[in-house]
Amino acid sequence: MSAAGGGEPEAWAAWAARLGPRLAGRVTAREPLSRHTTLKVGGPAGLYVVPADLEDLRRAVAWLEEAGLAWRVIGLGSNLLVPDEGFAGAVLTLQRAANWIEFQGTRVRVGAGFPLARLVQETAKRGLAGTVGLAGIPGSVGGALAMNAGTPRGEMKDVLESCLYLTPDGRLVEAGPDELGFAYRRTAFLDPGRRWIAVAAVLRLSPAPAESLRAELREYLAHRNATQPVELPNTGSVFTNPPGRHAGRLIEEAGLKGERLGDAQISPKHANFIVNLGQARMAEVVALMRRARERVRETAGIVLEPEVRWLCGQEELRRLLDGPAPHPASRAPGAGEGSRAV
Ligand SMILES: Cc1cc2nc3c(=O)[nH]c(=O)nc-3n(C[C@H](O)[C@H](O)[C@H](O)COP(=O)(O)OP(=O)(O)OC[C@H]3O[C@@H](n4cnc5c(N)ncnc54)[C@H](O)[C@@H]3O)c2cc1C
Repeated sequence: MSAAGGGEPEAWAAWAARLGPRLAGRVTAREPLSRHTTLKVGGPAGLYVVPADLEDLRRAVAWLEEAGLAWRVIGLGSNLLVPDEGFAGAVLTLQRAANWIEFQGTRVRVGAGFPLARLVQETAKRGLAGTVGLAGIPGSVGGALAMNAGTPRGEMKDVLESCLYLTPDGRLVEAGPDELGFAYRRTAFLDPGRRWIAVAAVLRLSPAPAESLRAELREYLAHRNATQPVELPNTGSVFTNPPGRHAGRLIEEAGLKGERLGDAQISPKHANFIVNLGQARMAEVVALMRRARERVRETAGIVLEPEVRWLCGQEELRRLLDGPAPHPASRAPGAGEGSRAV
């Protein structure tokens, strides 16, 4: 059995049978990742690992490193693109190992697996201000940390006092915001060389009347729901906003609002969203992204950069978007290194 890829379906079952008994949590082979992304598209992960607690997570990572298997941590998959061929490695989730929250006055300690939407609701209910800018972002706290998620009303970095992360060699490190490379939708967590796993965050909020916070939230969420295609599976903003411009407006001005390929569509409601009308394939999503980039480059002279994360690595996504267009008869985009059929 090859150490690097895992290879055939039976090989993944064999890896799962070896790792499973070492963990208190759950390991499954060839888990469809379309079940774990908000776009509901994508092939299987060789292994899908749900550690029971932090020690379990540490054991799983050590074992995967020793076995030479590629691995990735995901949150709630709300900013994630998974190739149709799947991911030839292990996907770990913290939804069981780090799904907790603790309140200490205006400080909140929260696990990376805790849903961000619940954090926003719980803080507003307790009269703690600072999280409204994160309202309506449908990921986990870990994903929000890794992405520095936010809106013009506030980002994750604005409320972060410190964070705890696990390194691939099993060290737990506490770091302040200055050490995490925060920028617009960027942090050190996204550097492929580091492979840090965010496990918890301490947030510093400020007191405010709960009723006015809840009213502010209601109004803000109503606005978001009216302007974003939340009724269909999607993956949030596909491209980052270029300085001083809106990616969605640029795509709309390029005439692509509503453009459809198979069941993937550039949303008629918000052109920076791609929605899944039913049976969309990642090849179609990537082809729409290519089309949007090409047309915006032609019409506005601006090169849009993806905000969404490609499970197999941003370099591969860059090649798919910038490389020669795939021949119609050849394999669909998505079939690159790292996204071998699983
Ligand atoms: C309808 C909709 C609206 C959205 N609106 C916004 C918005 O207004 N602002 C905004 O910023 N985003 C928005 N998003 C995008 C998305 O919700 C955010 O990027 C979110 O923070 C991703 O969290 P997640 O848990 O789903 O992460 P995932 O999508 O699962 O992962 C995203 C990245 O984070 C990494 N990651 C996840 N967890 C960890 C961890 N514990 N440690 C290290 N790395 C980790 C993954 O490896 C991956 O690279 C929206 C998405 C949708 C579907």
